[in-house]
Amino acid sequence: MSEYALELRDIRKVYKTATEEIEVLKGITLKIREGELATIMGPSGSGKSTLLSIAGGLDKPTSGRVIVGGVDITDMNEEELTRVRARKIGFVFQSFNLIRNYTALENVMLPLLFTGIFNVKEAKEIAIRALEVVGLKNHANKFPNQLSGGQQQRVAIARALAPNPDIILMDEPTGSLDVDTAARVLSLVKWLNDAFGQTIIIVTHNPEIAELSTRTYYIRAGAIYEEPPKRTLTEIVKEIKSSGSSGDIK
Ligand code: ADP
Ligand code: MG
Repeated sequence: MSEYALELRDIRKVYKTATEEIEVLKGITLKIREGELATIMGPSGSGKSTLLSIAGGLDKPTSGRVIVGGVDITDMNEEELTRVRARKIGFVFQSFNLIRNYTALENVMLPLLFTGIFNVKEAKEIAIRALEVVGLKNHANKFPNQLSGGQQQRVAIARALAPNPDIILMDEPTGSLDVDTAARVLSLVKWLNDAFGQTIIIVTHNPEIAELSTRTYYIRAGAIYEEPPKRTLTEIVKEIKSSGSSGDIK
């Protein structure tokens, strides 16, 4: 078993349109250890969604390798990918993406059945437990349009969580929610990481979750940067003292 839940090696992505080619990702290398809660920030159009889609096997890189839980998924065909995605990767989108004519329970059961590991009875038991974890066991038989936005997103989180994936990828999961609901969803995300050690990458504009995360990355002009480790005021004062500076501003 790899020590990394996700490894991206030198990922490039070029989009070709009728008139031009744009290189959105210019060689991104990223290693996410098990148990991390990593935040990715960056301006709109910087390639955050492209990166998550590639990491989750929903899109192919132009070059580079994608390794999830020690398994190289880069060259897998759609059939293999469907199974691997269901088992190893959870996805949470801004727009929830629940299936409208399925109940909450059925939505959560679906990826479990796609894994090819569980029968219907087992999938149902696991899905009920996942809904319990997100506080929605009593809403299991409701359809998406009978649930609030925050509840729908919690169903989506249960769906991502249920197969015990190597990693959950969240693309602006609170982008469609009001401030209070967003805060509640983010504290659920934090709790899943704390209580279950669930590895999560979250793309968000919310600085609060960035503060709570174990690592923060920024994407800009096709490259990724890790924020320098946060220093406490005590550490900064100690550094200034040990550098022998008198504190004068030159
Ligand atoms: P972000 O999620 O950071 O806002 P995206 O990954 O959605 O950024 O998009 C990055 C850039 O790639 C944008 O300039 C966008 O227009 C372009 N892009 C995204 N998807 C496609 C596509 N399928 N075809 C062509 N260009 C695309
Ligand atoms: Mg995006």
